[in-house]
Amino acid sequence: MKRKIVHIDDEKCTGCGLCVTPCAEGAIEIVNGKARVLREELCDGAGVCLNVCPTGALTIEEREAPAFDPAAAAANLAAKRNKGEAPRCVRCGAGEGEAVLLFARHRGESTWVCTRCLPVLIHG
Ligand code: SF4
Repeated sequence: MKRKIVHIDDEKCTGCGLCVTPCAEGAIEIVNGKARVLREELCDGAGVCLNVCPTGALTIEEREAPAFDPAAAAANLAAKRNKGEAPRCVRCGAGEGEAVLLFARHRGESTWVCTRCLPVLIHG
């Protein structure tokens, strides 16, 4: 099927890894120093990762790709959770089972913050 999915420009990618954490589905991995979407069915094409890339290597394109598989994405997220790699709030440590998590930039880092802690991070 033709759908929207992340495209990674190899020429621009430095392999910094900043795009890995924002991808809750775990679709992006660093392989041999470059970001890769190894399992396209895990990429929902939402583009949360785009804004963290310092080199503009990430874009959304429309092309032939396997359909997004929510069950596979949930299973991958569960596996990340079991390994302690699932997103957690940078301030209180809440996981997505305990609070709504939003992707954010905080003190120069790409991270997650829950909706309870977001006002504190904004207003102090
Ligand atoms: S954030 Fe950009 S430069 Fe860094 S690994 Fe991801 S695609 Fe590559």
